[in-house]
Amino acid sequence: MTRAWNFGAGPAALPEAVLKQAADEMLEWHGAGMSVMEMSHRGKDFSGIIGQAEADLRELLKVPANYKILFMQGGAIAENAIVPMNLAGKNPKIDFVETGSWSTKSITEASRYADVHIAATSLNPKAPQGKYTRIPSVSDWHLRPDTAYLHLCGNETIDGVEYFAWPDLEALGAGHVPLVVDVSSHILSRPLDVAKFGLLYGGAQKNIGPAGLTLVIIREDLLDQAHPLCPSAFRYKTVAENASMFNTPPTYSIYIAGLVFQWLKAQGGLAEMERRNIAKAELLYQTLDRSDFYISHVERACRSRMNVPFFLADESRNDAFLAGAAERGLLQLKGHKSVGGMRASIYNAMPIEGVRALVDYLQDFEKTQA
Ligand code: PMP
Repeated sequence: MTRAWNFGAGPAALPEAVLKQAADEMLEWHGAGMSVMEMSHRGKDFSGIIGQAEADLRELLKVPANYKILFMQGGAIAENAIVPMNLAGKNPKIDFVETGSWSTKSITEASRYADVHIAATSLNPKAPQGKYTRIPSVSDWHLRPDTAYLHLCGNETIDGVEYFAWPDLEALGAGHVPLVVDVSSHILSRPLDVAKFGLLYGGAQKNIGPAGLTLVIIREDLLDQAHPLCPSAFRYKTVAENASMFNTPPTYSIYIAGLVFQWLKAQGGLAEMERRNIAKAELLYQTLDRSDFYISHVERACRSRMNVPFFLADESRNDAFLAGAAERGLLQLKGHKSVGGMRASIYNAMPIEGVRALVDYLQDFEKTQA
């Protein structure tokens, strides 16, 4: 059996060592007489698994003591409603910066729960390709000082736009406004100063583990701002008070996420991940930039290290490109249907060898088409 290089945006490739360990432990976990999927979430074995996962995540991200880590369900799309219900329950005003498809989705959903204000947008509606290619300059953001929070998407998975510096809200006269960031597609790809944020959330299925688990990291003083109609299972205070066990948590996804956290620690942690992710992204972008055959629209300063969208200058070759890639075991390179073109997602679990295989193919395909 050979595993292909999987460039899918999510559910995405997991580290092979994690999958092997999970396979070894599938039928029976550590003498428990059953698999992790079959054990009680309240028993001592699973308590140990979730406790270790949380401790490892805290260590990796250096999560300060006044932040809670919540293991929830519903995915990041559900969080687009759950965050407003929790954080804007008492003050239904939310500001957003729009930088791509996912922040747009967050805006649309939040407008069902609150008065939404777009503090800045990078939308270029007339562009035939690449409608979002940059992050608006922070000096052009217009925040409402009485907003409940400011929401950003840290890495736009579809458009390939990533924040590498976080805004200084103090300088905008909004130091008191909590910063909420959707980190679904770049969490754990580099160190993060959690203390800068009010809340971070993300679906697991890119850089954390299997789908079904949603991670929320929340500053404690924000736990109790929910709207009275917020469902109990989605009320952060309730979830925190019950140590993510108010309802049955996604136990198997949490277990695999825990194995991923241990794998990350064994690799050298997030500083090492950042070093590798920079090397991988540079290799790929350099190859794309070297010729006019491929086009990357995103401004260099905010080109995502995780999701690299690109276009063939001659789009009539798209099908041939994808077929040739699949023959070489390079899978899931088709761009998101809303933007077209190609996209290579190169999360933590993609080693540089996979990116080299892609770069070789990009060069060979160009030669054969000349
Ligand atoms: N936000 C971002 C940045 C994403 O990449 C995704 C998934 N691609 C989502 C939200 C939605 O996640 P889910 O489908 O798990 O709800």
